[in-house]
Amino acid sequence: MEIVFSALDENTARFQLEGCTTSFANSLRRAMIGEVQTLAIEHVKIYDNTSALFDEMLAHRLGLIPIRSDGINLVPRSRCTCEGTGCAGCSVIFTMSVEGPGMVYSRDLISQDPGIVPADPAIPIVKLVRDQKVVLEARAVVSSGREHAKWQPTTACGYKLYPVITISGQCDGCGQCVDQCPRDILEIRDGMVATREGKLEDCSLCRLCERACINTGIGDEPAIVVTTDDTRFLFVVEGDGSLAFRQIIGQALEYIRTQSDELSAQVQEIAGETRDE
Ligand code: SF4
Ligand code: SF4
Ligand SMILES: [Zn+2]
Repeated sequence: MEIVFSALDENTARFQLEGCTTSFANSLRRAMIGEVQTLAIEHVKIYDNTSALFDEMLAHRLGLIPIRSDGINLVPRSRCTCEGTGCAGCSVIFTMSVEGPGMVYSRDLISQDPGIVPADPAIPIVKLVRDQKVVLEARAVVSSGREHAKWQPTTACGYKLYPVITISGQCDGCGQCVDQCPRDILEIRDGMVATREGKLEDCSLCRLCERACINTGIGDEPAIVVTTDDTRFLFVVEGDGSLAFRQIIGQALEYIRTQSDELSAQVQEIAGETRDE
């Protein structure tokens, strides 16, 4: 199995996963969305809220703010020694005290730990007019997207199968498919249609080119055929800033390995029991 990156920065990645099954590609996608541990605000004590938002809406908006915790390892409450009551090993407290007029931003959440802060300081939360106030204390805890979408570290995470375009000798280079392609992937070269250099991965598999070819009256089969390579996958992942992409994919792969080791151990145990009977 091989991973080849075509774009990679702190929060986004485009890469090709090669030499695996669709089920593995889908496991990786699901693990990146739902099995990576991140921080999100879960409990809010509101001392004063005279803003236009109800307490519940305010708390909901706070929960959706991505929180960055670089290099600080907190554990989920279920695995913490405090047994879920909340301590510095599994949660972090933020305070907020703002008075209008003005917009309340994510940067107004003051963390008890300077290494754990909102991923983007300029997320608007609520607008206050003169004399309106928001005073609260919020506790962020570790969990994963499987429990609630606010713990998902990705805003976009998907893949498509690698496109394969074949051209038969029937092609007369009429160019109808070139005009129909919405992604500008095709061109006429040496009297036949061909894919443009470096553009194949942009193909959306819409097959408008095949239809355009059939419409020229060429017969029952088009001269251009679009299929997919079922062992190659093109991934696009965008993070919400709570974790760097390398941490997202690292945690997801680790999760898949742990799960498959566990499954393998259980299968061996069952096989051993069956042999002993
Ligand atoms: S399948 Fe769609 S995007 Fe791909 S080459 Fe054909 S028309 Fe273009
Ligand atoms: S429409 Fe068909 S015949 Fe015309 S250039 Fe495209 S593949 Fe060739
Ligand atoms: Zn704890």
